[in-house]
Amino acid sequence: MRPVAVPVPPRDDLQSLEGYHSPQLNVRVRLNTNESPYPPPPAFVAAWLEELATVPLHRYPDRRAHDLRAALAARLGQPVERVFCANGSNEVLQTLLLTYGGASRRALAFEPTYALHSHIARVTGTPIAEGERRPDFTVDRDVATGMVERHTPSIVFTCSPNNPTGTLDAPETVEALVDAVAATGRGLVVVDEAYGEFAPRTALDLVADDRPLVVVRTYSKVWSMAALRLGFCVAPTWVVEELEKVVLPYHLGAPTQIAGRLALRFETEMRARVDELVRERDRLLDALERRPGVTPYPSGANFVLFRVEGDGQRVWERLVARGVLVRNFARWPRLHDCLRVSIGTHDENDAFLAALAEVLTEVVT
Ligand code: PMP
Repeated sequence: MRPVAVPVPPRDDLQSLEGYHSPQLNVRVRLNTNESPYPPPPAFVAAWLEELATVPLHRYPDRRAHDLRAALAARLGQPVERVFCANGSNEVLQTLLLTYGGASRRALAFEPTYALHSHIARVTGTPIAEGERRPDFTVDRDVATGMVERHTPSIVFTCSPNNPTGTLDAPETVEALVDAVAATGRGLVVVDEAYGEFAPRTALDLVADDRPLVVVRTYSKVWSMAALRLGFCVAPTWVVEELEKVVLPYHLGAPTQIAGRLALRFETEMRARVDELVRERDRLLDALERRPGVTPYPSGANFVLFRVEGDGQRVWERLVARGVLVRNFARWPRLHDCLRVSIGTHDENDAFLAALAEVLTEVVT
């Protein structure tokens, strides 16, 4: 057989695509990917393993994930036909773009925001229009609706709380976006609420069959299940029907379906963790606000974005040298010298604050 002289090129429109950049370094304190710092409750793991032992492993899982969707629907007060589940909310976003995006259509996102919205748009061949957030990272309602009228996007992404800034969307902005998109008759507003449980408000209650609104959520953060890969959206029935046609058959494994259903029995434990993380977030925000040379941004999520005076890249490197890994946005457009710290345990947060205090005296002064 003849060897190939050069690597076979990918699709033309993917040749300049960069992969997902978030280094996973082996350090003492990992506060870079917004996971829960706590594993799930032991009683949940025991119940999951017990049920797993009864699964006929030679059979495909329930293709429609009915029991999981029914349990979620009951918890959310929505009909089961409005719930779609997938392998992490990233797969939900991908399925939405595969279904409603494509070369002849357009997506719209407001930067800076979750990088995977525009990344998955590109992977699915969907042109993306970039709106700008204000300097405080909120979305300007008039700018947003103006862009909807100009671009008639098939999907408008918003993210509340927004990753990586922590910013919440004003309810009037979401409603105005939904109205503007409904007026075009051609698109959906997708509110990514991956961090919704940490925030004081949600768009979930607005979802209805006569509104082009989809709300996306994940089990990766508050339910401590990042390793199991489960996300879902609540959407009009007619959206869920289309998503089910596009997603691969049997995409959601039985272990994930069972875990997602059983986790809902541990709502009290989940709420207690959310309360604890919100308390820690507010403590961290307060400490960062009082530190000269640091500007933190208000956050409704389990992370805080902050800007440092001086070279953010060097601050990040020196934190890593002290065994503390945060997410580095220092060289990103619109986020110069910004770092994002996920909320960890009390001790991890203290370790971060101590390391930052040391580093700032070296880098800023
Ligand atoms: N949306 C946002 C805003 C996120 O921050 C993340 C995780 N980083 C996701 C979606 C994807 O989460 P998962 O695929 O683990 O559900």
